[in-house]
Amino acid sequence: MRSLTSITNLLTICGVRPSPIRQLVLKTLIDTGHPMSSLEIEKTLQTVDRSSITRTLVLLVDKEIVHSFEDGSGSMKYEVRARNLTNPQSNLNDGLSDLHPHFHCIKCGSTICLPNINMPLIPLPEGYIGHSSTMIVKGLCKKCRI
Ligand SMILES: [Zn+2]
Ligand SMILES: [Zn+2]
Repeated sequence: MRSLTSITNLLTICGVRPSPIRQLVLKTLIDTGHPMSSLEIEKTLQTVDRSSITRTLVLLVDKEIVHSFEDGSGSMKYEVRARNLTNPQSNLNDGLSDLHPHFHCIKCGSTICLPNINMPLIPLPEGYIGHSSTMIVKGLCKKCRI
């Protein structure tokens, strides 16, 4: 678990005013340790209304603190960029380096990170710059395959 001080620092370094809701949403994502949908965040933070959570997520994605991806479940998943957890002051253009594949269980709907696997680097045509890349493996998780 991360202290609220380091969460405040992370928000400040990334140019975001650390309001209580922003701290709560970010803390939830960090403490959970796996990608969450806004609905899951809403269930965890029962005191915060949906529109505040949505607005906060949009801002956190915009400031590159959190990245979002579609895991095939129909809802966006959000997770804290690994770069921010290790070195929040590292180069913002380094966004591709913390991308990793995810596993999505088609039965229970959970999505987990596969952080130790490198994403294949897709060569782009000249003049193109990649900002994000997603790879989802779908199947059954340990609990659901029984
Ligand atoms: Zn499952
Ligand atoms: Zn992940």
